[in-house]
Amino acid sequence: MTLTKDIPLDEVNPFESMMSRFDHAAELLDLDRGLYAILRKPERQLIVSIPVKLDDDEIEVFTGYRVHYNTARGPAKGGIRFSPDVTLEEVKALAAWMTWKCAVVNIPFGGAKGGVVCDPRGMSQRELEHVTRRYTAEIMAILGPDTDVPAPDVNTNEQVMAWIMDTYSQHARHTVTPIVTGKPIEMGGSLGRRDATGRGCMLVTLEALRHLGMPVEGARVVVQGFGNVGSTAARLCAQVGMKVIAISDHTTGIYDESGIDLEAARAHVRENKVLEDFRGGDRLSNSDLLELDCEVLIPAAMENQITRQNAPRIQARIICEGANGPTTANADGILEDKGVFVIPDILANAGGVTVSYFEWVQNREGYYWSLERVEKRLKKIMVNSFKDVMGYTETHGVSPRTACYMLAIDRVATVHRLRGLYA
Ligand code: NAD
Repeated sequence: MTLTKDIPLDEVNPFESMMSRFDHAAELLDLDRGLYAILRKPERQLIVSIPVKLDDDEIEVFTGYRVHYNTARGPAKGGIRFSPDVTLEEVKALAAWMTWKCAVVNIPFGGAKGGVVCDPRGMSQRELEHVTRRYTAEIMAILGPDTDVPAPDVNTNEQVMAWIMDTYSQHARHTVTPIVTGKPIEMGGSLGRRDATGRGCMLVTLEALRHLGMPVEGARVVVQGFGNVGSTAARLCAQVGMKVIAISDHTTGIYDESGIDLEAARAHVRENKVLEDFRGGDRLSNSDLLELDCEVLIPAAMENQITRQNAPRIQARIICEGANGPTTANADGILEDKGVFVIPDILANAGGVTVSYFEWVQNREGYYWSLERVEKRLKKIMVNSFKDVMGYTETHGVSPRTACYMLAIDRVATVHRLRGLYA
């Protein structure tokens, strides 16, 4: 086990760091050697070259990845990110995370992830469309509504999903709606998908407060990141009676002990793209924000925010991990010793993939659900998953993080045992 290594998660090898948590859970489950060996490796890794003619008529060849980590429980599911920092190791780690995430919320998907090494900020819409379409064509052999269903991730959005759907459909010679999720609503996207991850965060935070016997009304919430996940989680937590006392984005942090005016903050971001210059409270840095005295901390920005260095100073009673990997493996033990209740990412932010699953189901049914139906079913899954995880913490005497991994590995391993090994 490498949990005690003096290095933050993802700064060494994101895959091996993530797997250190897997190893710990697998050991506690007494997973047999064969299954351990199977679950420690991705099923399939595809590296493709993506030649694209840029606006200046030069040809640039981008590199793209698509990894299927495990498909025992169903089609591979996972986002596609466009970023200059994408590496195969990162994509493998994220694909494994997707496998455990889908298993924790018990939806019939395996785990995948994809990425293209490019910087969308320096690209025109036309260039982005061409990269997307050629990447789709290059990974086409392993895509399909029954095999691999991509979704948006960092720097990809509904428009990118629409291009993927169109490219796939042009090759298939008919419209294949369930090939991606996170599509525009007009072409088969689900109502409630945009809010789903933040809503899931709010739902499990409510469960955690209840579990710990803490009042919901007035519970002080601090949110890092004011994008899709953070701003929605903040709004919905406030809606159910909590008090959001601090928010931040990459430009600044804002603190108001009496509660931030979230509508004003959202309006400011709609207009200015960032929180910078928002006058709704005192300014503070992102590092100070993480250490504020509060009941609930929701890191919803990026990975590696709570580390061995700042974990001893965290004052929150509950951490709800809206982002993927906001806590390093080295910080886990410190938070546990301090009695911080961590709702791990693979549970806390699983609302997004859950409503993606609903989108895929609706596309296949050809029948669309009301928002009420989506929200009711999401709530049922998040609340039941929280209870399942708590069941493991009690039965095995482990932290919620280890419980999540144990539950997920157990579910994936059970299906492997039932299916047997094809020889
Ligand atoms: P987003 O791009 O909409 O928002 C990200 C926010 O984080 C922005 O406000 C940005 O300014 C802020 N940010 C970036 N760097 C920061 C820093 N150093 N300090 C403080 N704030 C910073 O992204 P999102 O979709 O909200 O995703 C946020 C996280 O949640 C990511 O880790 C993502 O992988 C994870 N996640 C998202 C979804 C989803 O459905 N969107 C689902 C599961 C997990």
